[in-house]
Amino acid sequence: MAIASKLNHEGVRIYCICGDGELQEGQIWEAAMSSTHYKLDNLCLIIDNNNLQIDGKVNEVMSIYPIDKKLRSFGFEVINIDGHDMNQIINALNKAKTVKEKPTAIIAKTIKGKGVSFMENIADWHGKAPKEEEYKLAMEELNKTM
Ligand SMILES: [Mg+2]
Repeated sequence: MAIASKLNHEGVRIYCICGDGELQEGQIWEAAMSSTHYKLDNLCLIIDNNNLQIDGKVNEVMSIYPIDKKLRSFGFEVINIDGHDMNQIINALNKAKTVKEKPTAIIAKTIKGKGVSFMENIADWHGKAPKEEEYKLAMEELNKTM
């Protein structure tokens, strides 16, 4: 999509959100290599870096670290942020728009299930829905923090 936008002079920006466990997959790095080769400065990759995937901690299943150094070595502009801080998110997205001749990766450090005591940083919640009671409790906890 980012290449097509460039070829068609559409001026469209493409945002791609990836999980951190997803970075273990080879096609991610093939796409990363292509995006720098084609100087896709209209591409912004956002990585949800919660260090959890369905099988456990990303660094224990198969480490992807250091993500920032790997992406820089592929030619990306890299911005590390706290993924729970809206000001940092907005600033990073704005900065990405100013980067020329290369794609930008925003590595957003996050905590899975943040704000819900029984969900925070627990891989088990990667791929299941809460039961009705769990949902109600989670919403109560989230409403207290808002
Ligand atoms: Mg993850």
